[in-house]
Amino acid sequence: MNDIRCGQCGRKLASGRYLELLIKCPRCRAMNHLKAESLPSERPGAPRQGEGDGLQSYHPVAGWQATPG
Ligand SMILES: [Zn+2]
Repeated sequence: MNDIRCGQCGRKLASGRYLELLIKCPRCRAMNHLKAESLPSERPGAPRQGEGDGLQSYHPVAGWQATPG
């Protein structure tokens, strides 16, 4: 369970899990727009492996230009 707190005054607004949440703080009346930080499909800055090993694959295409008609 995650504590959802106001970004303005730090008051605890709710607890639980969310993907996206728009909640108004009853204390300071700031609107808190919250988004889940870690989505499984999106991982920015993830290191890539198996790239840039000096290997190049070149496929010559013969007869690529098709002539319709
Ligand atoms: Zn607040």
